[in-house]
Amino acid sequence: MTFMANLPPTQELQQKDAAHHLHPFTDTQELNEKGARIITRAEGVYLYDSEGNRMLDGMAGLWCVNVGYGRKEIQEAAMRQMEQLPYYNTFFMTSHPPVVALSEKLASLAPPHINHVFYGNSGSESNDTVVRMVRHYWASMGKPDKKVIIARKNAYHGSTVAAASLGGMKGMHAQGGLPIPDITHIDQPYWYGEGGDMDPADFGLMRARALEEEIDRIGEDKVAAFIAEPIQGAGGVVIPPDSYWPEIQRICDERDILLIADEVICGFGRTGNWFGSDTYQIKPDLMTIAKGLSSGYLPIAGVLVSDRVAEGFIAHGGEFAHGYTYSGHPVACAAALTNLEIMEREHIVEGVRDRAAPYLAEKWAALGDHPLIGEARSKGLVAALELTPDKAARAPFAASKGTVGLICREHCFNNGLVMRHVGDTMIIAPPLVISNSEIDELVNKAAKCLDLTLADIKARDLYK
Ligand SMILES: *Cc1c(COP(=O)(O)O)cnc(C)c1O
Repeated sequence: MTFMANLPPTQELQQKDAAHHLHPFTDTQELNEKGARIITRAEGVYLYDSEGNRMLDGMAGLWCVNVGYGRKEIQEAAMRQMEQLPYYNTFFMTSHPPVVALSEKLASLAPPHINHVFYGNSGSESNDTVVRMVRHYWASMGKPDKKVIIARKNAYHGSTVAAASLGGMKGMHAQGGLPIPDITHIDQPYWYGEGGDMDPADFGLMRARALEEEIDRIGEDKVAAFIAEPIQGAGGVVIPPDSYWPEIQRICDERDILLIADEVICGFGRTGNWFGSDTYQIKPDLMTIAKGLSSGYLPIAGVLVSDRVAEGFIAHGGEFAHGYTYSGHPVACAAALTNLEIMEREHIVEGVRDRAAPYLAEKWAALGDHPLIGEARSKGLVAALELTPDKAARAPFAASKGTVGLICREHCFNNGLVMRHVGDTMIIAPPLVISNSEIDELVNKAAKCLDLTLADIKARDLYK
């Protein structure tokens, strides 16, 4: 490619990047001292940087490139749509073929009680839509006091004001005076970190019942909804005990509140079914979707809306005073539709369920024997490793949280593997098309980097 041939030297790109680009979730001073790694191309599950290094992308970009990189078909679909109709809005009682086709496709993939979609451009925006929509729904139903949304500590729902408020990340709330009013947070079902001596199943029940207690505390007549990720992703791949979701569903059924599943990571095959809600057999009233919807090829997101909410809202809500210029953007819809067609044609979701997930589960579990690992857990193609100086006690390191995790991540990057750290938890979510031999490579590289990390932290007196 000519673009590649004309690439300026890495240092020049790094200098210009440092001079003009503010990166998300980044300490700019720290980055600028080091210089950004410049990613120039990608193919399948591999990334290539400007220095010619090849890396296995264990994070599928940012949990999104589910069909892998280099899909010509998506590129061509987007090009064709650009030629035909690059943009038109969906505000003025107008629609267009790609948004109609994608909406029909999503209704067919979603659980049977879900048949409508409202579009945004990112998971964050779509969670803002969720806040607006559930409050408007209850107001339309004559219950304007049902406004409170219960979420969870350490949840991630995005980075806009409403989405970060739904999220339960203390560091995010501290910047900018969040959360906004009428959002509260209950404890998460994180057994490894917070379960102590409890049996995981009992712990899962206890953490689910925290929802019931919170509804009682606030008053059912004031609670609009509960929102949660089927598996918490950015919080460190918190896979709930099996007892958790059925109890949450019971509570939502008994109480007059809506259940919202944030499927931004779990949706589109990550857990071995189309949605995390299918895996945990829950029946949400709303589902937020993004990332895997287009495999990240273009930004597009949405809220899938159940018949209950859609019917109430359509019959009694009048005009919903909300929407985005790019809601249902035709080019993004065309890319998403093609992505979903690829997933169906290649049976990618079944491939995760029947081949890749069981294969990864076995190999990943073996990493649990490493002296640095307190727990190795996985579900579908999302997995975590808990780093610890003391396996039996599941103890944290004496060094500040994330110190060892970052060291481990750097060893991974330097050895051709993108594995992310959340504190001292290492996490992966590779493209869903990863082959068994690529899984071998991923796990072997992870094992090697654990060895390097262990030697490194011993040398720096951090292994305690
Ligand atoms: C990434 C993510 C979001 C936010 O999506 P953006 O497209 O980054 O705004 C919301 N919820 C979950 C569960 C996510 O992982």
